[in-house]
Amino acid sequence: DGPTRESILARLQEAEVKFLRLQFTDILGATKNVEVPKSQFQKALNGDVTFDGSAVEGFTRVEESDMLLRPDLRTFLIYPQFSREEGERGRVARLICDVALPDGTPFEGDPRQVLKRQIARAQALGFEMFVGTEPEFFLFERTPAGVGSTVTHDRAGYFDLAPIDKGERIRREITNKLVEMGFEIEAAHHEVAPGQHEIDFRYAPALETADRIATFKFVVKRVALEYGLLASFLPKPIPGVNGSGMHCHLSLFQGGVNAFADPAGEYGLSRTAEQFIAGLLDHAGGMTAITNPLVNSYKRLVPGFEAPVNVAWSTSNRSALIRIPAKRGNSTRAELRMPDPSCNPYLALAVMLAAGLDGMEQRMEPAPAIQRNIFKMTVREKRHHRVKELPTDLREAVEELEKDDVMRRALGEHVMDHFVAAKRAEWREYSAAVHQWELDRYLDLI
Ligand code: GLN
Ligand code: MG
Ligand code: MG
Ligand code: MG
Repeated sequence: DGPTRESILARLQEAEVKFLRLQFTDILGATKNVEVPKSQFQKALNGDVTFDGSAVEGFTRVEESDMLLRPDLRTFLIYPQFSREEGERGRVARLICDVALPDGTPFEGDPRQVLKRQIARAQALGFEMFVGTEPEFFLFERTPAGVGSTVTHDRAGYFDLAPIDKGERIRREITNKLVEMGFEIEAAHHEVAPGQHEIDFRYAPALETADRIATFKFVVKRVALEYGLLASFLPKPIPGVNGSGMHCHLSLFQGGVNAFADPAGEYGLSRTAEQFIAGLLDHAGGMTAITNPLVNSYKRLVPGFEAPVNVAWSTSNRSALIRIPAKRGNSTRAELRMPDPSCNPYLALAVMLAAGLDGMEQRMEPAPAIQRNIFKMTVREKRHHRVKELPTDLREAVEELEKDDVMRRALGEHVMDHFVAAKRAEWREYSAAVHQWELDRYLDLI
């Protein structure tokens, strides 16, 4: 099952595709691609296209710069036409690739490889992780010259209806394009903040979801551009209103059955679910550097904006880091609420899986679920309930990441070292900048 080289070649010909994009992701989460014309399609499908890896963030040393792109044939799709002009240039298709060394061995610095290693670990224990996400984003105005801004393009709020929600038309257009590309869209709505939107697509095995998140972000940005707008996945573009998260709904399946469900267990959860949740809570600190990788990510993780601050779980309250949605049976899952859409989806899902599996292997027990609003608890109450806080800035998060051996093993030395070095440099640059807030607060006063 799944497409073959021959079937893909036939589809490329039939649809008169002119260019094939071979895509992969760098360590910091940017999608890269090498585009090949028709004459190279066969070679590309054979996995024989090489590229200079030394030019890609975090990839390789100069001596081993010829990297191979090995397409995953299941990721084949033909892009819809985003504009008439684009249509005239000819159809474009893409394949997401694994990156290999010249001798064909998988490259340890390839984020997709990092996720595949954790998937294999889960598989060895008899499990498969499914993930559903809720990516949020803003639509902003561009100036006539095309420069982006943070001026939102409507003033609507949660679930509002057109005509206040001018974004509705664009959201529909994004949805249509995604459907054309084989996405099953489950919901699309205006979010709490003006100009903020959410589009949810159906849950799937972890690798497929990671691939889809990367594609999703590309399509959202591309369609917005078509309407002269800027779509941004920056976690906290506007102070004082909700930021953009990417809640991740995680579940394990064993032989087609949801392994988190157990009608006899407390809250209808299995031991496996409890251990997995305990692992997520235990590694939350270090994991956050990966799931929330920007300086700006930590401006979202503050009290009062529906984003989590406290490391706790709950079956009802949304102030916790992990919430267990009400549905049971095959829909039983843990909703992890700190990730934001600026993360590298492959690394993010890899660390979540690694943390959960560690909980299972160490037979961890989660602290009791907290059903109250944690934001209303005192410091003493929090201590009593063993509620820790998430890292408050990127520097603290990176420190916790470095200390966490489970995270180190999951990412591998190459990715860990490169990620940490890049984030340290980012933090230093931020620290050396003088921000408007400091001037507003101190300039006159001192
Ligand atoms: N935007 C919120 C966040 O930052 C989530 C809001 C919601 O979906 N309930 O996580
Ligand atoms: Mg939602
Ligand atoms: Mg939401
Ligand atoms: Mg949610």
